[in-house]
Amino acid sequence: MAHAVIIGGGFAGINAAKRLGRSGKVSVTILDQRNHHLFQPLLYQVAMAGLDPSDIAVPIRALMRPYRRVRTLLGRAETLDLENREVRFDGGVVPYDYLIVACGASHSYFGNDQWESHAPGLKSVGQATEIRRRVLVAFEQAERASDPEEQARWMTFVIVGGGPTGVELAGAIAEMARYALSKDFRTINSADARVLLVQSGERILKQFDADQAEYATKSLRSLGVEVVLESRVTNIGAAGIEIGETRVPAGTVLWAAGVQANRIGLQLKSPLDRAGRVIVRPDLTIPDHDNVFVVGDLAHTPGPNGNPLPGLAPVAIQAGRYVADLIVDEVRAENPPDPAHRKPFEYNDKGQMATIGRKRAIMQYHKHKKNGFLAWVAWLLVHIYFLSGFRNRFFVFLKWCWAYLTFSKGARLIIQKEWRQHESELLSPVVGSLDETYRHDGDTPSPRFESLTRADHINKPQ
Ligand SMILES: Cc1cc2nc3c(=O)[nH]c(=O)nc-3n(C[C@H](O)[C@H](O)[C@H](O)COP(=O)(O)OP(=O)(O)OC[C@H]3O[C@@H](n4cnc5c(N)ncnc54)[C@H](O)[C@@H]3O)c2cc1C
Repeated sequence: MAHAVIIGGGFAGINAAKRLGRSGKVSVTILDQRNHHLFQPLLYQVAMAGLDPSDIAVPIRALMRPYRRVRTLLGRAETLDLENREVRFDGGVVPYDYLIVACGASHSYFGNDQWESHAPGLKSVGQATEIRRRVLVAFEQAERASDPEEQARWMTFVIVGGGPTGVELAGAIAEMARYALSKDFRTINSADARVLLVQSGERILKQFDADQAEYATKSLRSLGVEVVLESRVTNIGAAGIEIGETRVPAGTVLWAAGVQANRIGLQLKSPLDRAGRVIVRPDLTIPDHDNVFVVGDLAHTPGPNGNPLPGLAPVAIQAGRYVADLIVDEVRAENPPDPAHRKPFEYNDKGQMATIGRKRAIMQYHKHKKNGFLAWVAWLLVHIYFLSGFRNRFFVFLKWCWAYLTFSKGARLIIQKEWRQHESELLSPVVGSLDETYRHDGDTPSPRFESLTRADHINKPQ
């Protein structure tokens, strides 16, 4: 029986695995560095204390339970040996007949990786909970600050990047400050928080038509968000950001600007685009390797107008299913067709949506557009529908109904970073440096983190 290896259990990988598993004609190994599939479109809700991580993440093993021929491995792919048809990962080697590389993308700081510790992006559960911690800690710091300048700095939140994620974060922080937290503090008025959305271009949401972006801008401004256009951030540090000569002191800076493809793409030795995405052929394979497919955010897939397809979940889902069907057809055929004559991948555009706060959204499907409350209801239903697992859908829907009626944010706990009993007594949950413990991958233990923690411990008075 042919064996397919899928690297990555995101939207593309999971959908390919399900199709292959259902066919019963191919044995499959799905390898992911995390044990869970993550519904990234709702990650900002975890960052903004609206949902818990388990509401939007499901163990890959649980999703694959119905498929007897699918094996799930927790591990990080390290080397792709295309000549010997093997994937080496941190736990061994897996041979393959077909390889599907679906490792997604991460943030690009445009050559300023040192900004990351001051301005986390939003891509993993670890990053979402870190953002939540920083936002909640900022209000706590403001409440206890005696210096008005320091208080104002903690009450300033900057989001860099005016795409859908930046808009969602800005709207959610503004609403949290105005409603969910408004009765909880005695020294500060949380509603006085400054939320800045900084965008280098002349408008936000450039993926949408200009009138939709205009609606979103007005909606954000009505929530009190300062939408700062045509302003490129030139520096980010512990004290805030700089836009050219202008300094903006801020206690919390979040990064929602650039995207870069997973570095594993480099190993395929195929042409890459500027974002590091692998330029694939019409059947989503790479040159000279008819059995190696690249799908989802990692792929530069030419669209009908020649531009690459956007990095969206429906693109990844459809690409994963297309590749799985293609493999199953070839495995089933007595005389497999010449790969040169494979039917090309065609994306069925489902449109796009973005939400602004708790009751406004924009949506666009070809020439059809909607915005406002009805668009928000549609956004909510679509996201509930696509969320994996019945339990998740049910609870998320209940939580949203509750939050909508009460303006509350259920998951407002500041989780202490240190788990050792002795050290947790020494480290204040609020005062611990915000910068030291933030880690890019969010989920993988980091030696740097360990050593910093130990040094911290040594320097504390006993
Ligand atoms: C905050 C946010 C909000 C978004 N909102 C929307 C939205 O509203 N609508 C929409 O359509 N799209 C949205 N997107 C985009 C959408 O989530 C992506 O297009 C989609 O997740 C891409 O799927 P993928 O399978 O290519 O990659 P991913 O879903 O990113 O999955 C990649 C997987 O590969 C694994 N992996 C990576 N490297 C390795 C390795 N070396 N070894 C093993 N495993 C590895 C990762 O752990 C991960 O599980 C959003 C994205 C983000 C970050």
